[in-house]
This record gives sequence, C-alpha cells and structure tokens, in this order.
Amino acid sequence: MEHKPITNCHAHCFTLDHVPNEFAKTMVPFSSLFTVHWIKKYRVIRWLIKLLNKKWVIWILKRFNPNIEASVQRLLAFIRFLDDDSIPQTQQALIDRLRSYYPTDSRFVLLTMDMEFMDAGLPDKSFEKQLTDLEDIKKKPEYKDIIYPFVFADPRRPGVTTIVTEKLASGNFNGIKIYPALGYFPFDIRMKEIYEYALKHDLPITTHCIPGSVHFRGSKVDTFNGKTHHPIACKQPLWGENNYDFTQNFTHPLNFECLMNPTLLEKIWKEDTVNFENLKICIGHFGGEEQWVNYLNNTWLPDSTVINENDPLETKNPWFDNDPDHPKAFSWFSIICPMMRKYKNMYADISYMLSDERIMPLLKMLLTADEYSGISNRILFGTDYFLVEKAGSERELSIRLRSYLGEDLFNKIAKDNPEKFLNIK
Ligand SMILES: [Zn+2]
Repeated sequence: MEHKPITNCHAHCFTLDHVPNEFAKTMVPFSSLFTVHWIKKYRVIRWLIKLLNKKWVIWILKRFNPNIEASVQRLLAFIRFLDDDSIPQTQQALIDRLRSYYPTDSRFVLLTMDMEFMDAGLPDKSFEKQLTDLEDIKKKPEYKDIIYPFVFADPRRPGVTTIVTEKLASGNFNGIKIYPALGYFPFDIRMKEIYEYALKHDLPITTHCIPGSVHFRGSKVDTFNGKTHHPIACKQPLWGENNYDFTQNFTHPLNFECLMNPTLLEKIWKEDTVNFENLKICIGHFGGEEQWVNYLNNTWLPDSTVINENDPLETKNPWFDNDPDHPKAFSWFSIICPMMRKYKNMYADISYMLSDERIMPLLKMLLTADEYSGISNRILFGTDYFLVEKAGSERELSIRLRSYLGEDLFNKIAKDNPEKFLNIK
C-alpha cells in the first residue's frame, strides 16, 4: 500500500513576541498585570497565571465569570515554553517541537496570526516580521514539504490584498487564515480580491469558528459604527453585553452562508458578479466542543430545516440563546453540517475540540454514518498546537484520536482529506 504522511491541518507557531501587549484586556480580572511585557519579564506573573489555572481557583473564578476558564488556559498556553531555557522563543523552535511528536515525514498547516487590529496594543515583533521569519524556514529544503504556512488576512490592515496575494504568489504560503472574532465579518468587502485570488488558484482558507478567548477588545460601538443589527440578517439584532459574547456576532457560522450564498452577498455588496459558492474554506474547530455537546444534550429543530432556500439565515429563529422566550433553535454543529452539504468545497477541522473526549462518538458517527457520507470526505485532522493545553501533550491527543477511530478513519481525516484540501498531488 502507498505510504502517505499524516497532515495536521491546524497548528500555530507564533510566539509571545507576536501577541499584542494588552492581549489580556477584558479577558481576565486585573488584566493590566498580565501584559506581554510583564509576563516576559517577571517570573511572579507567570507563577500567578499558573495559580489561576489551578482547578480550585478556576472553580471560584467561574462563579463570577463563566467564560474565565478558556481565558486563563489561553494565558497558560502562551507561557508554556517561557520558563524552559532550553526552548528558544522562535517559530522554528515551536515547529521543531511540534514535529517531534509525529512521524518524521508528517506535514503541518501553520496558521499565522495578525493581532494588531484587535485593540490590544502592538506585539514586539510585527506581523510582517512574523511572515518573513516563517518564510525563511519554509525556504529551507528540509522544511519545504513539511510546513504549509497560511497567511493571515485582516481587512483592516492597509494593503492587505497586496500582502496576501504576494505571499501566496511566492509559493512560500499555501493558504489564507481568517479570524472574524478579532472584529470583522468574513463577508467584509475589503476581502473581495483576496477571495477571488483564492478561488482562481484553488487555494484553501481556514477560518476560526468557535466562541473563544481571542477576540476584539475594543468598544463594540466602534466595531459596528453604532449599528444594532446584523448587516445581512437585518432582523437579527446584534447580541452580547461583554466582548466575549459580542464577538460571536462575527464568528457565527451563518456569516459564511452570507459570504457563500450569492443572493445574500449581492444584498450587501450591491454587485451581482461575485459568486463564492466554491471557495475552499475550512471551518476551524467545527463550531467548538461546547456546541457539539449542546447538540447532543438539547432539543433542536431538525437540521434539514436550518439552511432552507427561502430563508437561509433563519431570521425567524434567534442566532443566539439570549431570549428566554425564544430559546436558540440550533447548535452551531447543526448549522455547519448542512452548510457543508450545500457548499461542496467547505471543510471543517476538529482542532482544539479534540481535547474533549465527549465529542469522540459523534465524530466517529460523522465519519461512518450514511447520512453524513456527503461531508465525511471534508473533515480534517488538526490539533491547534500549541494552544491545546488542557488534555495532555500533542502526541497523547493524536494517538488517542487514532486509537479511537482506528486506522482507516484516522487515515481519511489525517491523510486523504488534507491532501485534497491542500492540493497535494
Ligand atoms: Zn487555532
């Protein structure tokens, strides 16, 4: 049988130097203590972060803020390698460490991050430097066929189209990363030429799609110019008091229906020439483990009614469960699956959520059941290295998954499907 290498379709190698200084703003109490500069400088701050991650401390903090757990875990992931002097704080060192968990010929999609527009200050090393450093690694013959860097696209960065298309044209970057939670919609018109370029060259895009700790820190009024309703689903009021909740307006999976459904996109872009139905887009984290577990435990409308032709945004049903009289009708899981059926180039990766064993039976069913045969060839293996801290090492995660699924199913999501996604012949 032909040997194929494993491909991890969702990993990161940025360091604390690429994280904006006030990253912790609105994320944890006393966030001014946890600036990147202080974290790097003072061991006691790092000790505090470790303390905040103790089970009993989280248990207490959660009484005041139910979303705190993900936030303190994220801080812990960032400092993970800082106290170990044997690990230089470079992208190269993180890549080598990641590689050490896998067979030597394994491949890795490395998603860059541009966090300069999330209103959390600036990082020590600029986005441009992050890209050129990674590019230098990709140029080395021993990494050329091992790493697949994706260039980040934030529509608010001046000249973003030129930056992204030049990086892709150089061949040193193999796809695009977007992260709407940082404060933009995926259907932002400033992304138009980038999407057109991706479509023309059949290049993959990975988006972040999970409610999470990395999100826009600024005032929500600024983000929406004072608007209170979603720009396409006009009946959909924007939801959320705090930034964590509010940025889910950007992250919500139905925003990709807005982007890929030409009728909806025409409404906001006022041009009928664009059609992004065939964009090759991967829904990173598949909506997240909480949404999968919610899907398992709650009553929902049948998923055949989620994306219907006449009202694809289901504006009759709230996108969020903010209104006790009209409880949320869908889990993000039950929105993403029918979108994948509808859009034949839409993929989803299981990164990060992999750390939660409760998702395993549903994942196995997706990969084996007849009802899901239309989408199972677009599910991708990924881990979200180095941001998955809570469930053991990278090796442990991937081996646990492999032994749960068995060789055939693991090969499908970790070998066959990624080759199609990345156009590896
Ligand atoms: Zn990620």
